[in-house]
Amino acid sequence: MRILRAIFILCFSLTIISLAACGSAAPRIFDGARAHRTHVIAQTNFGARPTGSPANHATGDYILAQLTEAGWKTETQEFAYRGVPIRNIVGKQSEGRGPLIILGAHYDTRARADQDKTDPNAPVLGANDGASGVAVLLELARVLDRARLKNEVWLVFFDAEDNGDLNACALIAPPCDETRWQWSIGAAYFAAKLNAKPEFVVIADMIGDAEQNIYYEQTSDKALQEELWKIAARLGYTREFIPEFKWAIEDDHTPFLFRGIRAAVLIDFDYPYWHTTQDTVDKVSGASLERVGRVLQTWLENK
Ligand SMILES: [Zn+2]
Repeated sequence: MRILRAIFILCFSLTIISLAACGSAAPRIFDGARAHRTHVIAQTNFGARPTGSPANHATGDYILAQLTEAGWKTETQEFAYRGVPIRNIVGKQSEGRGPLIILGAHYDTRARADQDKTDPNAPVLGANDGASGVAVLLELARVLDRARLKNEVWLVFFDAEDNGDLNACALIAPPCDETRWQWSIGAAYFAAKLNAKPEFVVIADMIGDAEQNIYYEQTSDKALQEELWKIAARLGYTREFIPEFKWAIEDDHTPFLFRGIRAAVLIDFDYPYWHTTQDTVDKVSGASLERVGRVLQTWLENK
C-alpha cells in the first residue's frame, strides 16, 4: 500500500464440557501464538513471495489447502496483468445465510525493498507486510463459530497488492519497461468482477507489529471503524486500537470504496521496517495477531 498523505494530528479451544458432552464442537477462540507459529512461519519459509514467482504460487496453494482443511469452500480467480499471472483466492462460508461480509488480506510481497537504505533491490520477506494479514484470516477460518454467523462470509486473499510504483524492470516478468505497476491489482480486479454487493469489506494489512498501534484510517468507512474499535475497547485493547485518525492509505479496501461499498483497512502504518529487508518474523508478535483476530471474530459472531 502507499501513503496518500500523512497528517500528524495526530488454540486453545475453550473446552466447554457440557457442549462437548452433547456432541457439539466446542467453541474456539482466536489463538495468536498459533497463527504466528503456523501461518506466518509457513509463508515466510517460502521466502519472498512476489506476484508471479514460484513462492507466490506455493503460498496460494498453502492458503487453499488451509481453507479446505478448515471446511471452507474455495474458489480462485485468475487473470494476467502485463503478462504476469495473478491469482486471487476466496474461501466461502455460510452461503446465502445473510448479507455478505468480506475480510481480505494480500498474500503477495513487494518485489523490491525500496525503503531499505542498504539493499533496496532485494525482495521484501513480508512477515508483517503480507503474512500477518493472511495469518489472521487463516486462523479465523479455523476458529469462527459457524453456528453463530448471521452473514455469508468470504475470506479473500488478494494477489498483486504490493508492487505499486515499481517498474516492470524491477519485476520478474518480461517485457522490461519503465511503466510503473499499480497498487491493489488483485483487489481492483476482484471488485470490478463482483456480482454481489457486500455489506462490509474489512482488510487486514501490516497488523502484526509487536509494537502495535492501529489508528483510524482516513479514507475508510468511519462508522465501520467505530464499530470495530468499540469491540477492541471492550476486549481491553485500548492501547493498541487508538480511536483517532492518522494515516490515509491506498490499500485493498480502496477499489471497494470506489464502488460505494462500506470498507475499511486495519493497518498499523507505524512500522519502521516497511518495505525493507528487515520485515522479518521476529518483528511480528502472536499477541498482535491475536488482538486483530479476536476483534474480527467477535464482530462476525455477534453481527
Ligand atoms: Zn507493502
